[in-house]
Amino acid sequence: SRAEFAACTDGLTGVHNHRHLHEHLTGEVSKAVVKQSRVAVLFVDIDHFKAFNDRWGHILGDEVLRAVALIVEGQIRRDDIVARYGGEEFVAVLSDTDLAGGLQVADRIRDKITAAPLVPGTARVTVSIGLAVFPEHATSKTELIEKADAAMYEAKRLGRDRIQVYNDELAGIKLLPTEKPRPRFSPTP
Ligand code: GH3
Ligand code: MG
Ligand code: MG
Repeated sequence: SRAEFAACTDGLTGVHNHRHLHEHLTGEVSKAVVKQSRVAVLFVDIDHFKAFNDRWGHILGDEVLRAVALIVEGQIRRDDIVARYGGEEFVAVLSDTDLAGGLQVADRIRDKITAAPLVPGTARVTVSIGLAVFPEHATSKTELIEKADAAMYEAKRLGRDRIQVYNDELAGIKLLPTEKPRPRFSPTP
């Protein structure tokens, strides 16, 4: 129905919204557990987008958001989805996709976005993309998004306009500190 469509769709870009992302990812992670398959998640954030808006205005900024959404949509498969996660952030869920496959898609997205100004007469934009894969990097839907997000932040830290795969060094303060293992017996001299 139209109401159902509206409830799942981002008004500005026409891609899925945050709510639908979570519903979809819950299903995909369950399927991956049963089928022992993988799910790759890309967290895509536009670089220095505040500066773009400040220079070119929000109307053109909105056009960039629509263009980025279309590019991501154009690079994923039929069963995959892209959602607008927040302001200038998009999350793509790639079913049955491993690390190498996720990197290929991320590379294509980054290339297409960087190739030319998305809005004629403006500057180009670049994106930073974080990649995490179930079950290698995460054991739940929430953790999968968190880790793709952490990887995206690392891509920013390393200079933006790049793709970063999650690794355990990025676990940082978001995870509970692990207790130091205590010796089970006193070592005998
Ligand atoms: P970074 O490279 O660290 O991601 O810098 P940034 O400026 O992209 O990030 P920051 O989080 O500081 O700012 C995000 C900007 O995205 C702020 C706002 O101007 C812009 N933005 C968010 N939602 C919209 C929107 O719906 N339309 C437009 N035109 N801009 C938006
Ligand atoms: Mg952001
Ligand atoms: Mg940004």
